[in-house]
Amino acid sequence: MKLFSFDRDGEVNIGVELENGRFNLTEAFAIYQHAKRINPPVSFAFLQVMVEMGYCSGQVVENIFADSWVKSKLHTIRLPAEVKFDLPILRPSKIVAIGRNYQAHVKELNHKMPTEPIFFCKATSSLIPHEGDIQIPAWLETRVDHEAELGLVIGKSARNVSESNAMDHVAGYTIVNDVTARAMQKEDIDAGNPWFRSKSLDTFCPVGPYLVPSDVVTNYQNLDIKLTVNGEVRQNDNTKNMIFPIPRLVSEVSKYMTLNPGDIIATGTPEGVGPIEDGDEIEISITGVGTLINRVKQL
Ligand code: MG
Repeated sequence: MKLFSFDRDGEVNIGVELENGRFNLTEAFAIYQHAKRINPPVSFAFLQVMVEMGYCSGQVVENIFADSWVKSKLHTIRLPAEVKFDLPILRPSKIVAIGRNYQAHVKELNHKMPTEPIFFCKATSSLIPHEGDIQIPAWLETRVDHEAELGLVIGKSARNVSESNAMDHVAGYTIVNDVTARAMQKEDIDAGNPWFRSKSLDTFCPVGPYLVPSDVVTNYQNLDIKLTVNGEVRQNDNTKNMIFPIPRLVSEVSKYMTLNPGDIIATGTPEGVGPIEDGDEIEISITGVGTLINRVKQL
């Protein structure tokens, strides 16, 4: 069961992928509310609003599709095979990214092993959806890298939460490519400057295509994560090899800043980061979370 945002004739709607196909969940919600005589009905067109209102769960979707009236209307809300995916979350208040969270990756970049989670932000203006182009500006002639990461989407506001309560605040999972202007990042780190700009160029944060609710992905600490460039495997690991597990990441970040519903946390990249170039096709797959594909365009 996977949720997504899609473009429906210039309008955003919520879709759901079930075993028997893809359906318009915005319309299913409307039919369900009509059947239950919920008046006035709530319009669910934005997945982010669904998350904010606490409706992002496999159980909610199951209940809707178990309703006999919705079942009788399935043919009217079935989506065509091809849909144009939009970002699962259109306007997060922030994107927090964890650095150095897989041992082999720390070694490949010759960094010190962290003793506590390291994190930074990516500008929300860097977001692009599944199948959007990663655009490398003409003036940027140095190395740009891919970084495959499991993304968390916050469901309930989290401020100073404990590790044991942390997962109550996660609405679901997505895929993030933490695209990085590597040479610029190194230059900034060497100069003692923040590396924010190297992580935040426009289009340097592909996310999606799906948001899979947290009650559907219960084995979040045992997911294969794989990235290919033009079909060649570059990164291939498992979330069990994170240095700091997911509850620790949420708890740690929430000590310093309130995580708002819709905020995205990129949980760090495994070993195998490498350069991307004009024309490359980058594909990231995570067990149960889907496949995110983007092409690279040198401007
Ligand atoms: Mg990263």
